[in-house]
Amino acid sequence: MSSHRDDWSARHSVLTTARRTAALVNALADERPDPVDVADVLRAYGETDPVDLTTRDIAGMRAAAALLREVFAAEHTDDAAAVLNQLLRDHTGPLRLTSHDGTTPWHPHLDRDDNAPWDEWLLASSCMALTVLLWDRRCPPGRICASASCPNVFVTQGSGPERRYCSRRCATRERVAAHRRSRSPEPSSEAG
Ligand SMILES: [Zn+2]
Repeated sequence: MSSHRDDWSARHSVLTTARRTAALVNALADERPDPVDVADVLRAYGETDPVDLTTRDIAGMRAAAALLREVFAAEHTDDAAAVLNQLLRDHTGPLRLTSHDGTTPWHPHLDRDDNAPWDEWLLASSCMALTVLLWDRRCPPGRICASASCPNVFVTQGSGPERRYCSRRCATRERVAAHRRSRSPEPSSEAG
């Protein structure tokens, strides 16, 4: 029982929720995301089956993801806070506690009720996690990959060296490209 409880807290930690937001924003960035792929992301972050997403759910979640992307796009804490305040004002309900009818420990929610539609749930749970991260770290909760060819967002580390790329793959690709550029300088006519 207690291990189940520990598992629950790890799964629903603020950081995990923020990472789920980033994963969903990325999965929903496609023009036509496959509902199966989006459901897989939800399951990977602990959503229990059945996870049934209609094309209408996906459309709503895409709109929510586009709004949330603005939080990751904000470079400074003040800007990220302003974006979050706007989302909290326009798209979430009042803070409440739920235990999902006794099936989970009490935890805060910003959606109207436990059966809120997916788009409302995505915005509310994401705003909650990103707000707490900004509060705790006093820095923007995430950023967009520094690779010009990659639209992915990611949650930044609380401490340690600042991460610029969404993944090892992007970091390696950009390092190789920078190395190539440095070994074959541009013609001087284009340099100025
Ligand atoms: Zn990337």
